[in-house]
Amino acid sequence: MSQLSDRLLERLQSRTARVGVVGLGYVGLPLAVEFARSEGLPLAVRGGGHNPAGHCVLDDGLVIDLSRMRGVEVDADARTARAQGGSTWLDFDTATQAHGLVAPGGVVGSTGVCGLTLGGGIGHLTAQHGLTCDNLVGAELVTPDGTIVRASADENADLLWGLRGGGGNFGVATWLEYRLRPLDAVVGGMLTVRGTGVRDALLRFRDVVAGAPRELSCQAVLSVDDSLKHVLVVLPCYTGSSSDPAELRALRGGARELDDGVQACSFLDQQRLLDSPYGTNRHYWKGHFVRELPDELVDELLRRVLALGRPAGDILLESLHGAPKNTDPTAGAVGWRGAAFNVSATATWQDPALDEEQIAWARETAAALEPWSLGGGYMNYMQADEPIERVRAAFGDEAFDRLRALKRRYDPGNVLRRNQNIPPGAA
Ligand SMILES: Cc1cc2nc3c(=O)[nH]c(=O)nc-3n(C[C@H](O)[C@H](O)[C@H](O)COP(=O)(O)OP(=O)(O)OC[C@H]3O[C@@H](n4cnc5c(N)ncnc54)[C@H](O)[C@@H]3O)c2cc1C
Repeated sequence: MSQLSDRLLERLQSRTARVGVVGLGYVGLPLAVEFARSEGLPLAVRGGGHNPAGHCVLDDGLVIDLSRMRGVEVDADARTARAQGGSTWLDFDTATQAHGLVAPGGVVGSTGVCGLTLGGGIGHLTAQHGLTCDNLVGAELVTPDGTIVRASADENADLLWGLRGGGGNFGVATWLEYRLRPLDAVVGGMLTVRGTGVRDALLRFRDVVAGAPRELSCQAVLSVDDSLKHVLVVLPCYTGSSSDPAELRALRGGARELDDGVQACSFLDQQRLLDSPYGTNRHYWKGHFVRELPDELVDELLRRVLALGRPAGDILLESLHGAPKNTDPTAGAVGWRGAAFNVSATATWQDPALDEEQIAWARETAAALEPWSLGGGYMNYMQADEPIERVRAAFGDEAFDRLRALKRRYDPGNVLRRNQNIPPGAA
């Protein structure tokens, strides 16, 4: 390995001597990609480092770590922002909110902007403004042969289509560009219900979001505490004009053990709600996009969080009502915008001795969702052991074949395969 790094350094020095330090990022990235290809080294790309499958690292290969490329450039007049390949949502929201602007992103500040966008993107503004990838308007990539390629509505529009959900399959993004919208404040925060009222609160969440206007995005997290009491955290984000919206009153309902933390706040405060430290736990996530959430399934989920007789992890329910349904489905590759919810069992633990039990819990919980599933899983939450059929089903046959054709054009050797892979296959 040390000989390899010497060879890489030599090549980098010879190039930078020619172009000077200013061009280092632009030289370093193509060189690293080219080097991995020419040495036959497996390659991983690290943005924010959040992927639960651990795709951003690997042994005996080359990791392109973008975590020092975190700039976000805002053009307030054009209402667009360019985020560098390693920027996080905290970087992005801080830069865009300085101008009173937003793009719909993830709910945890340290998640990578590019990684999340390339897999779709669900968060606190999904009902209002769609999936994160619906707001992607341009990109610059370094493809595996070291070429710099741009994508927008006017240039390589088919690549832009593929980047809206097709993951990090086509190149390393030096920057992605987003459409922005004005937003100053929201009504947001958390409603936490414990104990016997959780079932009713979960049913209320389901019913409220089914009829909710686009001004309300909402997610819910179901778990049990150490005393095996059910806990439901509901995370509304309302951006309408009412000071007391009926939907928020309905979400509160008459729950007895209710901790009501919902109030007017800045969008940055809303984005910081879940900023817990990340990186110490072991993870295994599995879920389904479901057509509906019938009472029977709610009861099964309430049973599943108790199944190990101790807290095993959370069940995350992300509502996909509103804007994702009103966006032209042919504008991007994602194939699940018709689902009512994305429901995911997110097993988290620390002791490696629990690996088998925790993984089995997530798989069995996901299996309980299958009767209501649209078929595929969410690229951003899938583990490395997902079969290709699940990746295919996340797009549908036609879109998957179109993605494979793009893969053959931009990465025919499948150099970028440490991801939810779209293999190039035969034409
Ligand atoms: C705590 C936590 C919270 C999350 N919250 C949300 C959420 O609110 N909404 C949501 O939709 N998802 C969420 N996710 C899932 C997240 O979107 C995905 O795991 C995503 O892959 C993370 O991107 P990253 O850059 O942080 O991760 P990394 O592990 O660094 O990268 C993951 C993959 O993305 C690709 N990638 C990253 N950057 C680039 C780039 N510049 N160019 C090309 N490819 C790149 C690569 O294929 C890489 O393997 C969350 C995950 C965690 C762990």
